[in-house]
Amino acid sequence: MMMNVPLTVGAMMERAEQFFPEKQVISRTSGGVSSFTYIEIGKRTRRLASALAELGVERGDRVATLAWNHHRHLEVYFAAPGMGAVLHTINIRLSPEHIIYIINNAEDKVLLVDEDVWPLVEKVKNQLKTVEAFIVMTDSEELPESDISPLYSYEDLLEKGDERFAFIKDLDENEPAGMCYTSATTGNPKGVVYSHRGIVLHSFALGLADTAGLSEADRCMPVVPMFHANAWGLPFAATMLGTTQVLPGPQFTPKLLADFIEKEKVTITAGVPTIWLGLLNELESGDYDTTSLRAVLCGGSAAPSGMIRAYETKYNVPFLHAYGMTETSPLVTVSKLKSYQDDLGEEEKLDVRSKQGLLVPGLEMKVVGERGEVEWNGEDMGELMLRGPWIANEYYRDDRTEEAFRDGWLHTGDVVTVDKEGIIKIIDRTKDMIKSGGEWISSVDIENALMAHDAVFEASVVAVAHPEWQERPVACVVLKDEYKDEVGKEDLMDFLKPQFAKWWLPDDIVFLNEIPKTSVGKFLKRALRAQLKDHLVI
Ligand code: ADP
Repeated sequence: MMMNVPLTVGAMMERAEQFFPEKQVISRTSGGVSSFTYIEIGKRTRRLASALAELGVERGDRVATLAWNHHRHLEVYFAAPGMGAVLHTINIRLSPEHIIYIINNAEDKVLLVDEDVWPLVEKVKNQLKTVEAFIVMTDSEELPESDISPLYSYEDLLEKGDERFAFIKDLDENEPAGMCYTSATTGNPKGVVYSHRGIVLHSFALGLADTAGLSEADRCMPVVPMFHANAWGLPFAATMLGTTQVLPGPQFTPKLLADFIEKEKVTITAGVPTIWLGLLNELESGDYDTTSLRAVLCGGSAAPSGMIRAYETKYNVPFLHAYGMTETSPLVTVSKLKSYQDDLGEEEKLDVRSKQGLLVPGLEMKVVGERGEVEWNGEDMGELMLRGPWIANEYYRDDRTEEAFRDGWLHTGDVVTVDKEGIIKIIDRTKDMIKSGGEWISSVDIENALMAHDAVFEASVVAVAHPEWQERPVACVVLKDEYKDEVGKEDLMDFLKPQFAKWWLPDDIVFLNEIPKTSVGKFLKRALRAQLKDHLVI
């Protein structure tokens, strides 16, 4: 038999301190860009953990953050689990009502807040039932004017902390280490709790050559927020591996990202497609050196193949399409060609790589349609179900657990096909599919086709009620500025016609200046559906 040694988050930071003391974390905050070595980050993390203990944080207590991607947030990532508490990252962009709900539902004890998010806390403070201490993550020691008490400055606390604080060892690896809430179609967000074991094994998965292949040699810039499914687990994995981290801080723009990629020689970055559409626009207008990039990890929504093609052919920047959800830590699949698929033609390769890809080792899947498990023929559709050590098995104190977690499987709500290679393609979210005259239409397929048109910046396709067909697709399109006077509905329809059966073509194309986005930067289809509710009523 083997030793029964628990997998812990604290040990991941210890590894960085031990083996990569001089490797760096480059961090942008409101005060500018600074860099820290892992030995410095380790000491600061230990100081923070000891300060949290002084404030009364105990094993199992929730330590919440409202913060962007920067070194202080990284320190909380390790200080809270390192002392046996639970890191609870809160999405800054949620409505105040949802933030109040989340904090009360999680019973957060301490709240660490970025300076620019502080006004939000002022707004909701009277409704927070459990928070016993507020910490502002400022550069300066100056605290905002406030009647909130007790209120601490992050750097003050660190100064008084103990840099020799020992991470907790006698921990069951199944104890909670983190938590994150994910948005629900209706009602309040749903909480997911991550275990130490889940986080460590997920980090190993990110390091596999056939997934993201994250390694010590990388310079990793997570653009996906650290409050969105732990920035896809990258800060944990990067620390464990001694990877250089580049954290882009608050309110970044495509220009800032492009500058960071060039200056910091970023090798791998990660984010949702809308980020990459924005960056593509920036690259087209500027002169940036992106040759350091070996992978752009893209997930959260389907990566349009037109966008993948543009990055790879114009800028030689390789894309890695991945799929996951908050409930799954989040990595579930990564799209890479198998070695023997290298003989395929360029278009076929792009087709394969635009799918969501292969299940990563350690997880199990099945796809269940109306008549049981579907055949892996690339055509039969069903709901994807998952099991594994980094897949949640419940929502935190939430009676919606029953809907999603049944018979030992997570029911993802994503409709997929699987081809004979085992490669998954997400057809749509159950709630976004369009049912026209009893037949399903994938909104994602039409969107991807539209976004492959040179003039289209963003496209989102939604179901609109129709008197005869129940629902019909309507496309919402944002044109690139330079094409606004040149391209019309007919041009886009002509472009789509050869690609789809007639009944799949949208009934209308509506031009917008902007597509509303969710709190994590995905197209907000709910808002578009509400806006177009009566669009097809005659
Ligand atoms: P939210 O529900 O707030 O968007 P998540 O990030 O947890 O939060 O969303 C997970 C969902 O995002 C998945 O269930 C799936 O519908 C969608 N998704 C994630 N990655 C992809 C992808 N690569 N392609 C298509 N859809 C994706």
